[in-house]
Amino acid sequence: MTLPTKPIRSLRPTLDTAFHIDYAWWSKGDRDLRVYLRSHLCAEHRDQLAEANLDGDLVDAIDPATAEVRRVDALVLLMQAHCARQPGFINEHSGIVDAAFRVFLTNDNQPLTSRELAERLDRDADTILRTIGGKQIYQGIRPTAG
Ligand SMILES: [Zn+2]
Repeated sequence: MTLPTKPIRSLRPTLDTAFHIDYAWWSKGDRDLRVYLRSHLCAEHRDQLAEANLDGDLVDAIDPATAEVRRVDALVLLMQAHCARQPGFINEHSGIVDAAFRVFLTNDNQPLTSRELAERLDRDADTILRTIGGKQIYQGIRPTAG
């Protein structure tokens, strides 16, 4: 009798590897998620909140899919409700990393493959994979575990 062998998982991400924002990555070292998040606000809110102290503000939000109450970052919520709905939020002039980050902000961080990101960003899937699938992790975007 042979024991079932584990499927060999390639260490290198492929076009079908799902990525997401790993918020744990941000909590390591002195990376400042707040500053980066603020850079994604629309001009109006960036002005409005320039002096506001929103650091670590969490609010209750109801998950539309599961109806569960979750603690959600107030800045992310504001972005989803307003800034992300402004024209040009995800546009072809922003860098791939920033654009991908915005996609994950607005889709509640649902994992997406390079192919799926390519559709949303109107970019080349291989270019996206080369950018976010390398050794260097940009803005916490990395393959989902498992
Ligand atoms: Zn806004």
